[in-house]
Amino acid sequence: STAELRALDAAHHLHPFSDMKSLNAEGSRIIVKAEGVWLTDSDGNRILDGMSGLWCVNVGYGRQEIVDAVAQQMTELPYYNTFFKTTHKPAIELAAKLAELTPPQFNRVFFTGSGSESNDTVIKLVRRYFQIKEKPEKKIIISRRNAYHGSTVAAGSLGGMAPMHGQSAPIPDILHIAQPYWWGEARQGETPEEFGLRAAQALEAAIDAMGEDRIAAFIAEPIQGAGGVIIPPATYWPEIARICRERDILFISDEVICGFGRTGKWFGCETFGTEPDILVMAKGITSGYMPLGGVMVADRVAEVLLEGGDFNHGYTYSGHPAACAAAIANLDIMVREDLVGHVANDAGPYLKAGWSALADHPLVGEAPMTGLVGALELTPDKTGRTSFADVGKVGTLARDFSFKNGLVMRAVRDRLIIAPPLVISHGEIDELVARARRTLDDTYAELKR
Ligand code: PLP
Repeated sequence: STAELRALDAAHHLHPFSDMKSLNAEGSRIIVKAEGVWLTDSDGNRILDGMSGLWCVNVGYGRQEIVDAVAQQMTELPYYNTFFKTTHKPAIELAAKLAELTPPQFNRVFFTGSGSESNDTVIKLVRRYFQIKEKPEKKIIISRRNAYHGSTVAAGSLGGMAPMHGQSAPIPDILHIAQPYWWGEARQGETPEEFGLRAAQALEAAIDAMGEDRIAAFIAEPIQGAGGVIIPPATYWPEIARICRERDILFISDEVICGFGRTGKWFGCETFGTEPDILVMAKGITSGYMPLGGVMVADRVAEVLLEGGDFNHGYTYSGHPAACAAAIANLDIMVREDLVGHVANDAGPYLKAGWSALADHPLVGEAPMTGLVGALELTPDKTGRTSFADVGKVGTLARDFSFKNGLVMRAVRDRLIIAPPLVISHGEIDELVARARRTLDDTYAELKR
């Protein structure tokens, strides 16, 4: 029974990013199956998954084609590694497919098992790159406050989340600069354009302050995801691109969320017109059906790395054959169904119209959306950019109402966020927006009580 499962779970499972104390008291939510954009829990409730799991189930649940591809690969060759100049067909095919789908400068991939492993790999790769170029002192990586790049010690250090740093001190040689969060951080009277420019120029200031000869790279998500879906003002990315072009540093685009169609192009860097040297991927590469990640390097980086010989790095599951088979089947679906076009021209604009209309609600300060990723900033007073005194409390309240209303939204501080599967239909979008509005009404009524 559900009660028995909850008791076993509470007795034996340490959950990621969960308040252990309240989990033990309340028990966890058990999801038993899913189809398309719909989850079913152990009490039989149907819930619209507005978060694609953890931003990953891009092609939706229940894709038999991916299941079959994995099963066939498991039968033929369930495992082999890619160490010591060995490989297998799924890894070869996937690497070639990624070279086709990514921007033209990318032709080589290093496979990992996750986004965190990918970002650990990135740290070693950029340092190795400058060692080979005989500039070993160039090892500082600039990241941004509130960024999320994963949970391992190194990836968590790259990330800029204070609570994570608080529980495990970050590794050295990583520097965090401003995030382009206009609502939360702009000065009084500063327009989004002015603020975007100022936030970008923090990169130039950091390079000058530390010395360009010590900076290896700048890493950023095209849209900060776990930080609250921070969609930068239009002036931000062009200015960052200029700085990266003019300085001898590598630009790393962490596309773990934005990659594979989320923003209406294959990769977020294409939506914002930047030209990264390194592309980090995971999640949407398999739509979460199997764990897989990757780091792609631009040709100019690859040339140096190849020159350097051995790269002392790799994972048992780098390029796992069944995971690669899942990725190939997943990407085939994305291409055949033109899901990127669907986000850009159909589902994205349709959701944006409904979502933007939520900005008229008394609780909502702003309702930004790009492609199929968006946020609702909750505010006690929508005439100014004000925040609730007890940060996070209203967001959590709203998130819980949302679940009761049959919609998964996530709360980051007092910002609700969504990133539904890319296959979402107009009818499901109407449902999502209606449930989000009901959630705002319920939260507002509770605050007025
Ligand atoms: N990078 C970004 C931008 C992410 O959003 C995440 C996860 O949410 C990661 C890296 C870490 O990926 P993983 O959880 O697969 O290790």
